[in-house]
Amino acid sequence: MKADRVVRSTCPYCGVGCQVLLNVKDDHIFRIDAPFDAAPNYGRLCVKGRFGADYVHHPDRLKTPLIRKTPPRPGHRTAAQFPADWREATWDEALTAAAQGLARIRQSYGPDAITANACAKATNEDNYLHQKLMRGVLGTNNVDHCARLCHAGSVTGLQLAIGSSAMSNSIAEMKDLECFIVVGSNTTETHPVISTFLKDAVTKNGAKLIVVDPRQTEMTRFAALWLRQKPGTDVAVFNAMAHVIVKEGLMNQDFIGARTEGFSEYIESLEDKTPEWAESVSGVPASDIRAAARMYATAGRAAFYWGMGISQSTHGTDNTLTLTNLALMTGHVGQPGTGLNPLRGQNNVQGCSDSGGLPNVFTAYQSVTNAGIRAKFEQFWFDGDSARRLPAQPGLTVTEMVDGILTGQVKGWWVMGENPLMSEPNLRHAQEAIEQLEFFVAQDIFFNETNVFADVILPAAAFAEKDGTFTNSDRRVQRVRRAINPPGEARADWQIICDLAKRLEAELGLSSAGWDYSHPSEIWEEMRQLTPDFGGIDYARLEREGGVHWPCPAFDHPGTPYLFADDFPSGRGKFFAVEFGTGSELPDADYPFILSTGRVLYHWHGGTMTRASALDDIWPECTVELHPNDAARLGLQTGQWVDVASRRGKITVRLLVTGRSPEGTVFIPFHFAEAAANVLTDNRIDKRAKIPDYKVCGVQLTRAAEIPARAGADIPLEDRGTIKDITAVTV
Ligand code: SF4
Repeated sequence: MKADRVVRSTCPYCGVGCQVLLNVKDDHIFRIDAPFDAAPNYGRLCVKGRFGADYVHHPDRLKTPLIRKTPPRPGHRTAAQFPADWREATWDEALTAAAQGLARIRQSYGPDAITANACAKATNEDNYLHQKLMRGVLGTNNVDHCARLCHAGSVTGLQLAIGSSAMSNSIAEMKDLECFIVVGSNTTETHPVISTFLKDAVTKNGAKLIVVDPRQTEMTRFAALWLRQKPGTDVAVFNAMAHVIVKEGLMNQDFIGARTEGFSEYIESLEDKTPEWAESVSGVPASDIRAAARMYATAGRAAFYWGMGISQSTHGTDNTLTLTNLALMTGHVGQPGTGLNPLRGQNNVQGCSDSGGLPNVFTAYQSVTNAGIRAKFEQFWFDGDSARRLPAQPGLTVTEMVDGILTGQVKGWWVMGENPLMSEPNLRHAQEAIEQLEFFVAQDIFFNETNVFADVILPAAAFAEKDGTFTNSDRRVQRVRRAINPPGEARADWQIICDLAKRLEAELGLSSAGWDYSHPSEIWEEMRQLTPDFGGIDYARLEREGGVHWPCPAFDHPGTPYLFADDFPSGRGKFFAVEFGTGSELPDADYPFILSTGRVLYHWHGGTMTRASALDDIWPECTVELHPNDAARLGLQTGQWVDVASRRGKITVRLLVTGRSPEGTVFIPFHFAEAAANVLTDNRIDKRAKIPDYKVCGVQLTRAAEIPARAGADIPLEDRGTIKDITAVTV
């Protein structure tokens, strides 16, 4: 088929930020390719990027604004069925209802009674305006997003140690690695195209890979060393590696002296962290810990890559600090092919944070507590209207928002493109909170498990239906381009926000903060002028260069593929003594297995997009992985249905007996609403990062009655997502 047009854009799934070519015929995307000459993917795509964007054409897309026919009373809010409980509305009716509801909450309870979720799937421009509305119109910093649920442990640890939480090195440098450690990342399935570059580093350039993971991921096949620690014992392993480096004199004394502080106090804390002690805690042989320490410390260029496996923990901050300690003591940061690299999940989770979708910062991490920064934004947004002031107190995090509803502190919620009733831990707890809301506005491309509780639903355009920018995991700002029209009356998020803001300002009797943008390039230009790190990036440059890594303070600056060449944002890097311990819910006699959750290649997070795509036919149902020895003990076999229960709830899933997860640990992907893994997970959090523990909680397994498999579920479980499949689709 010959395309009417081919539009270059950015993949809507993961943080790799692959460039895609959308082949369009009759306003329909019929094929997706990748440009071979464009960073970061150079022609490579995974199965989601190549085949998973058909969700944009799904008949269930939201096409018309909806208003609930009977507004629920607080505490009696239930899921509203479509179409019986909803009426279609004009945009004017729906936006007026949304504005009046939010204004009523503000006038009755104050600005901090309203919270909002920004969206790591939406563009930078959408998210910039979202936080501008929350801060500038409603007057609260209660804005946060799913970064809290995936990498808050990484962000907090990196901020403490070096003052910056971004991935420090670019994807393009992966080929130059000599040694790298992949920890808590099933890279092949979560960041598939990055995994191909990492595998190239091993197979083509002879790099040494160390995998630290309880689960046997495909990356272990390429590893020189696989440290299979017990879940939740990462701190012990990395402390012991640091012990070895110190005892064997493998530190980089020049780097420590010139770029860091607190080393002498820190090494005292390592004295008893011997590899033998770590083996007793983690199960990793002491000899392997010694070998890993030597391999990492003596390499000319070495780097860490990690994922949610260590961040989503009650001690996610501690985990990250043990990695920063190792990088600082060896000097493996601040040069190409080195670094501290948290692999960001969502396509624009980096950009959503960069755009101010966090409760404590404006764009590019300019603090809301800094009076000078606030004055700069006040001057720009309010054009000298001295009656308008921005809030100085940091707002609530996503996890605090849920608890804030239950305590009565929060009364109104605006959720843009997130699905908390799939992504929050302990879903019953989250639903109890939502039931208490007085007013709830949702903005999305589909009905989902959360927005059926809303009062007003605003239908949004998907990635291929709007212009803007995404920022990928290595801080590369790239264009998103409109290739097709949105369905029905759906509109781009930035347009919805502008119209909502104008109505809110009218309801609240405020002057205009300037919402008359005609194109997202004008929104970016406003961000650029307010954000020194974006000063050298505009749409014209993105057109010419394809993408630019921030920080980029001026138009003649080349951008910054790797960070910290000369210093850290905090000045000197800080060492932190970290003691091993856990706040996780550990297994016991009643709940004897550890549950770990994560992704599979064919699906994405809460499944809103991939389950409306052809990919759902390949992986149509939830499975639980169980070790063969545990299966034999319980008398269970692959394909049987089992109930998996924790202290918080129960789900029924099909069993896959496999040695991928270690004995005593089960793994469940979190994409399936009919068997939502977060029914089981625990909502206790890391005290500093406020991130929940999705990787360790106690569960039990029992045989369940057979459930007829749905169509497509006859693919043998053992064949789903196998190494053969993954390799085939990533090249
Ligand atoms: Fe999209 Fe990520 Fe796959 Fe690239 S690796 S095609 S960005 S999902």
